[in-house]
Amino acid sequence: MDSLLTSEAAADAIRLFGRETLKQELRRAIARGHVSPEALIASARDALSRHFSPSLTRAINATGVLLHTNLGRAPLCPEAREALREVSGGYSTLEYDAEKGERGKRQDHVRALACDLFGAPGALAVNNNAAALLLAMTALARGRRVLVSRGELVAIGGSFKIPEILEASGASLAEVGTTNRTTIDDYRRSLGPEVALLLTVHPSNYEIRGYTARPEPGELALFAREAGIPWLHDQGTGCVEPLDDFGIAGEPTVAQCLADGADLVTFSGDKLLCGPQVGLVVGRKDLIALLAAHPVARAVRPDKLTLAALAATLAAWKRTGRDGFPVYRAATAAIVELEQRGARIASLAGANRELGVAVAPSEALFGGGTSPEKRFPSRALRVSHSRLAAEELASRLRQRKTPIVGRVETGHLWLDLRTISPEEDGEVGAALSELR
Ligand SMILES: *Cc1c(COP(=O)(O)O)cnc(C)c1O
Repeated sequence: MDSLLTSEAAADAIRLFGRETLKQELRRAIARGHVSPEALIASARDALSRHFSPSLTRAINATGVLLHTNLGRAPLCPEAREALREVSGGYSTLEYDAEKGERGKRQDHVRALACDLFGAPGALAVNNNAAALLLAMTALARGRRVLVSRGELVAIGGSFKIPEILEASGASLAEVGTTNRTTIDDYRRSLGPEVALLLTVHPSNYEIRGYTARPEPGELALFAREAGIPWLHDQGTGCVEPLDDFGIAGEPTVAQCLADGADLVTFSGDKLLCGPQVGLVVGRKDLIALLAAHPVARAVRPDKLTLAALAATLAAWKRTGRDGFPVYRAATAAIVELEQRGARIASLAGANRELGVAVAPSEALFGGGTSPEKRFPSRALRVSHSRLAAEELASRLRQRKTPIVGRVETGHLWLDLRTISPEEDGEVGAALSELR
């Protein structure tokens, strides 16, 4: 072992991984049956580079889904990225009031900005929207009942189920109405002394069509006021501006939900708000104060990086509106622009004679629970290969150092240009030309 570790070849590996780590890995390489010093060191180096190379890396989203939960939802705006750089490298004023020279509160960095942007009296930031709901249910309805329409007992993504969050909070469910029809009279009939809260949920990833009914927001507000219980609306997407110009009508903004009479509105920070992973609760000040004072609030509080990025995101909305955000720039890119970029990437890949690349019509969507099935026009690279199947092409692109994630359909690999950022075009072109 000593002679192995003092060899020329080992010196480089020691610099990369440290002497002790290399030594342990060399023992494993010996156990794997290698004998020559060169083979031992090469095998140990390979194993260690695999072990230490990060699996959480940048990825190129070619799926056409702008807010893809598996791909980290919204990319941040430049101001939020700069705030992360600024706050992460040293100490910060996380809980320090520099003006007064005394202890400050972490929520103070975002409260006024959030209240201003959403037209809300109060605001609280927590770890994510699921945490916001858990906190609200716990603080407002633990040991009591929560009214929820049977049409809104939904699962969002793999692990978010409204009934389970409710149960975890110690509140119990009072189911109202039926899956397709719930009226304000159904809510009235379900009311009792043990009911503490009215919960409504934005039907974000599903649509119930046909013979349906749900109360108007005004009816719900009036009902909650008369019953003397708060109304919490899980808006989910954090929509700041209407999306009508994408052909997506009826995606309510957070401000609209408050104006409609909801006492509290909860949503994610990394969907249409395009900030970091965070959950926001906005609305009545007295209720927000109850939430903030609950011990669960301490368990789900956001960290300094999240708060720095969130404050910068909220400020950017006021300064630049949606045009300052990568997701909206991608969403509004003109079809001709996508076609031109597609043609350029295709020509970069043109040297690869085995490849067939065409720019073809496709459809993009916001995703992240924004009005389901509402798609808008896009363009994609439709890729085929003279020897390799579409699944194989997709797999090779996924296994690059920076994975490129597309989709396989109709026997082709599709790379949607709307979600590929223009700065990534060269990388995509190079990756395609290497598919041999
Ligand atoms: C996305 C979403 C959630 C879950 O939010 P997370 O921030 O992922 O915890 C809950 N409710 C609705 C309506 C949503 O759209």
